[in-house]
Amino acid sequence: MVQYVLDKHDRPMKDLRISVIDKCNFRCTYCMPAEIFGDDYRFMPESELLSFDEIIRLVKIFARFGTEKVRITGGEPLMRKDIDQLVARIKQVDGIKDVAITTNAVFLVKQAKKLKAAGLDRVNISLDAIEDEVFKKTNGRGIKTAPVIKGIEAARAADLPIKINMVVKKGMNEDQILPMARYFKETGDTLRFIEFMDVGNHNGWNMSTVVPKKEIVEQINAEMPIEPLEAQYYGEVADRYQYSDGSGEIGVISSVTEAFCSSCTRVRISADGQLFTCLFASEGYDIREMIRNSEEDQAIISRLIKIWTMRDDQYSVDRKNGVPTTKTKIEMSYIGG
Ligand code: SAM
Ligand code: SF4
Ligand code: SF4
Repeated sequence: MVQYVLDKHDRPMKDLRISVIDKCNFRCTYCMPAEIFGDDYRFMPESELLSFDEIIRLVKIFARFGTEKVRITGGEPLMRKDIDQLVARIKQVDGIKDVAITTNAVFLVKQAKKLKAAGLDRVNISLDAIEDEVFKKTNGRGIKTAPVIKGIEAARAADLPIKINMVVKKGMNEDQILPMARYFKETGDTLRFIEFMDVGNHNGWNMSTVVPKKEIVEQINAEMPIEPLEAQYYGEVADRYQYSDGSGEIGVISSVTEAFCSSCTRVRISADGQLFTCLFASEGYDIREMIRNSEEDQAIISRLIKIWTMRDDQYSVDRKNGVPTTKTKIEMSYIGG
C-alpha cells in the first residue's frame, strides 16, 4: 500500500533521481570545470558505488511512498557498465511507471537499442550548442557536436522519446539560442532551455551570467512565434510553449528567475548512496551505510520518513529573495542534476 509522506511545505516525496556514477567523458565548464576535475581528480572507486541490487532495494522502498518516476543520471550514466540491465530491473519494480536517463548522448550510438529493449521510457540529452566552435568550448574537451547528434539519431532510430536540454550561460552560448531552436524545430525534438545555476562551488556563477527565461522566450518569439501551454502535472519544472505554426514545442526551466521550490518533489541519491533533499544541499544522509549494515527495510523506511518530514529546503526561493547562501554545496556531477 502506498504511504505518502509530506515535507514541511506539504510537498510529497516522489520523483527519484539516482546518480549511478560520478565520472564523465565531458568537462562542461558549468558543471565539471577541467581545472578542478583534472587528470588527478579522484573519482569514486567502484566499491563505493551503490550496486544494482542496492539500487533496486531502494527503488522498491521508494515505490511504497508513491514514487512512480525514476531518472538515472550521473556523471555520465552511460559510462556505468550494463546500465541497460539496471533499467530493466527498475522497470520491473511494482509501481514504477516511468524510467528516464539524462545523458550527453555520446554512448547512445552503441546503447540506444539495448536501452529501448530494456524498457527505457525516455531520454534527456544535453547539448549546449549546435555550432562546433561553441560546443567544443562548453564541453571542455574539444568534442564536436557530431557524436552527440549521432547519439540523438540513434535514440530516434530506437524509438526513444527525446528531449534536448541546453544550459544557457551568458558569455558562453547565448548566441546559440536561436540556432538550437531552429535546428530542433526542424527535427521536431522538444528543446528545453535551462537557466545556468550556482550548483557546486567551482563554476563561477553570478547573477550576471544568467540569461533569464523572459529573454530566451522573447528572442524565440520574435523569430518563431510561440504560445504558452498549460502544465501537464504538479511539479512540472519546465514552462512549455508551442510554436504557433504547430511545429512542436519548447520548454524553459527558470530555476533562477522563477524558482519552483514550492512544488519540488525530488529526492536525489548520489552514486555512493547519500540522499539529498535539495540540489543545493551541503550534506546528504548516508543510506548506503544502512543498507550495508543489513538494516531491515522498516528501519530505512522510518529514516526516510524522518528525513522527509523535516525537509524545509527552498534554496532557489531564498536566493531570489537575497537570503545569503554561503555554504559549501555538493557538486552537480556528484548529485546528478
Ligand atoms: N552527464 C549527463 C548530462 O549531461 O546529461 C547527466 C548529468 S548532468 C549533471 C545533468 C544535467 O545537469 C544536464 O542536463 C546538465 O546540462 C545540467 N547541468 C549541469 N550543470 C548545470 C548548471 N550549472 N546549471 C544548470 N544545469 C546544469
Ligand atoms: Fe558531464 Fe553532464 Fe556534467 Fe557535462 S553536464 S560535465 S556531460 S555530468
Ligand atoms: Fe528543489 Fe532545492 Fe531546487 Fe528548490 S532549490 S527546486 S528545493 S532542489
